Amino acid sequence: MTLKPKTTVTFYNGLTTIGGPMIEVAYDKSHVLFDLGEVYRPELGLSLEDETYEVLIKNQLIGDVPNFYDSKVTGKEIDHEHWQHSAAYISHVHLDHSKALNLLSPEIPLYTGPITAHLLPALNRDGDFLLPAADKPKGYTRPIIAAKLNEPIQVGDITLEIVPSDHDAYGATGLIIHTPDKTIVHTGDIRLHGYHPDWVREFMAKGKGCDMLIIEGTGVSFPEQKDGEEFQGPKNENELTEQIIQYQKDNPQRQITFNTYLTNVERMLRIISDSPRKVVLHAKRAQLLKGALDQDVAYYYLPGETKIDDLKSELEVSYSDLLADDHQFFWQAVGDYDKLQEGGLYIHSNAQPLGDFDPAYRPFVEGFEKRGIEFVALRCSGHADAKELKEIIAGFEPKILAPVHTLHPELEENPFGKRVLPKRGEVFTLS
Ligand SMILES: [Zn+2]
Repeated sequence: MTLKPKTTVTFYNGLTTIGGPMIEVAYDKSHVLFDLGEVYRPELGLSLEDETYEVLIKNQLIGDVPNFYDSKVTGKEIDHEHWQHSAAYISHVHLDHSKALNLLSPEIPLYTGPITAHLLPALNRDGDFLLPAADKPKGYTRPIIAAKLNEPIQVGDITLEIVPSDHDAYGATGLIIHTPDKTIVHTGDIRLHGYHPDWVREFMAKGKGCDMLIIEGTGVSFPEQKDGEEFQGPKNENELTEQIIQYQKDNPQRQITFNTYLTNVERMLRIISDSPRKVVLHAKRAQLLKGALDQDVAYYYLPGETKIDDLKSELEVSYSDLLADDHQFFWQAVGDYDKLQEGGLYIHSNAQPLGDFDPAYRPFVEGFEKRGIEFVALRCSGHADAKELKEIIAGFEPKILAPVHTLHPELEENPFGKRVLPKRGEVFTLS
């Protein structure tokens, strides 16, 4: 007699680190892999060119996942005779979830939500965002299928459903996986204090009672932080936008500049739509909005920068006008800070350098202070804190909880069933 196949979940990477989760769900001859990022370890000092497959594996920056990577990269053939149905999925554009997507074998379909599918090639157009694909020119991004949200995708015996979620990467989604006998949920990066907590609650309702919940736990990674410490500043994205608007209203005659993080496109769009001043972006950022969303915004070039063809010339604002302005513009400063006006205000909203953990941060802040420019950091986290994580787990009521993407997986608990703390390479058979 033949045994009935069982659902297995294999945890390849990104478990006790913040980022880089790589997990496979398999059933009989079908399997899916999610996500395809690289663990962020700036202390290794590796450039994109240094990051060969061997280096990535050796430093555990990606998982040693069989039967998904391009054989031109690994030197190992994929066992297509056994794995008749394969697919991969990426939850959002952040590099710790997407950077290795070009390593996926070309014949395996890669699904993401529609916004992520448009953003990734736009972010990688200069070839400095993603790892390169084998035998392809710089700037190449392998095909990505923009999945219809909330609609089933068939991968042999496995059905995927990509659902809207909320994170500080625009277009972030979560994944619900149905095998013939089990349901597994992958939260991706998630929070309840963003622009769309309602989407997260709908995701929770859809995945309620799942057999396994794979949840991120960035928010419990630093238990030594005192209670409330992470709550300084805006409590949610809406409050953050309101504070940015308020700074403009309170300072009718003062130069005001800002910067945000590249992939937090939604924050940028809100700032553009709500600001009383005219928002002007650096040309590169304007190009991203144009390429990914076909949105036209006012922009400027720093001296000596090459013109970007797809930006409309009538939307260009001259750099000298920005430098001289004290009331009309709210503009993105990305360098050349020496030229900013003394007495001005600069708002640093999760832009790079990100924070104290980066050695570049302190000197960056002090540079503004030395020039007599007020430096204001307005942050809002992309991740659920400990309290929100509890609420999310309670929404899903999982039979098994598998915390990943955190320095302290043991701090996430499951009042509704079991909890497992997966090790690298560990396989769980759900029966
Ligand atoms: Zn993320």
